Amino acid sequence: MLAATVLLGLVTVSVASEGAKWKYGETDSHGYGPPDWGKVSKYCDFTAQSPIDIETASVKKDANLKELRFTADNENGKVSGVIKNNGHAPTLAINKLKGKASLTGGPLGDSVYMLQQFHFHFGCDESEGSEHLVNGKAYPGELHLVTYNTKYSDFDTAASRSDGLAVIGVFFEKKKKGEKGQGKKHYKAVRKLHSALRKLENVGDETSVKNIKLFDLVPELTDLSSFYSYKGSLTTPPCYQSVSWIVLKEPIKFHKSAFGAMRKLKNGEGGLMCGNFRPPQTLNGRVVSEFDR
Ligand SMILES: [Zn+2]
Repeated sequence: MLAATVLLGLVTVSVASEGAKWKYGETDSHGYGPPDWGKVSKYCDFTAQSPIDIETASVKKDANLKELRFTADNENGKVSGVIKNNGHAPTLAINKLKGKASLTGGPLGDSVYMLQQFHFHFGCDESEGSEHLVNGKAYPGELHLVTYNTKYSDFDTAASRSDGLAVIGVFFEKKKKGEKGQGKKHYKAVRKLHSALRKLENVGDETSVKNIKLFDLVPELTDLSSFYSYKGSLTTPPCYQSVSWIVLKEPIKFHKSAFGAMRKLKNGEGGLMCGNFRPPQTLNGRVVSEFDR
């Protein structure tokens, strides 16, 4: 019996090593789970990884962060593109000819970081889902707006450079009955996303989305009034340590139907995509800064 178990273990590992695929959850025949991502990319075992648990008692105030600005080339932060189920997260690739948004100032200095894509991490229930934690607490989900430094020719070139990327993390949670949301415009933007998500059930499914108003979806983007900031990494392989993280303190509210649509999405292993978050990584002496306007 023991021999059979050991043998089974060996078979699983050898299958997982072929092609070095990564996944969430346990390492199994479908690929490596988060603790084993170092076998997919060595950077995943480095010491400045993301996400982290933000312990508010040890966060340092930094007035220089006030210069951070998120702007768009149109009034509402309208962006369009194709949203796809890539097996790991519903991801909207921005068509920059139809509307651009960018981030500059504060921890990013004079460089302009252009919005490349955004995607969602979420749990199978309300108890988990976000990648970043605050004092050990997870939110039901986290939206990542991924930007790259335009001093590099494109996203792929920037992705591995130490000053290559900046990602805005926005926690989201379910709007409870009777609770005040972010208003009608916000709801409209969420509804638009929701209808798109319903078309992404299977891996490889994609649909085009027109004119998502980012400033309606995440009103906080217009003034970035309170956020955490630290240097970390991509939260998926290859885990490059190239990310200036901006994590907004205030969660946005999503209608429950948006959660319903997300939780129906399938992953590349024949299961559900929900639970697509990496556990918190060790801080290793890094300082987390904060700003409150
Ligand atoms: Zn992400």
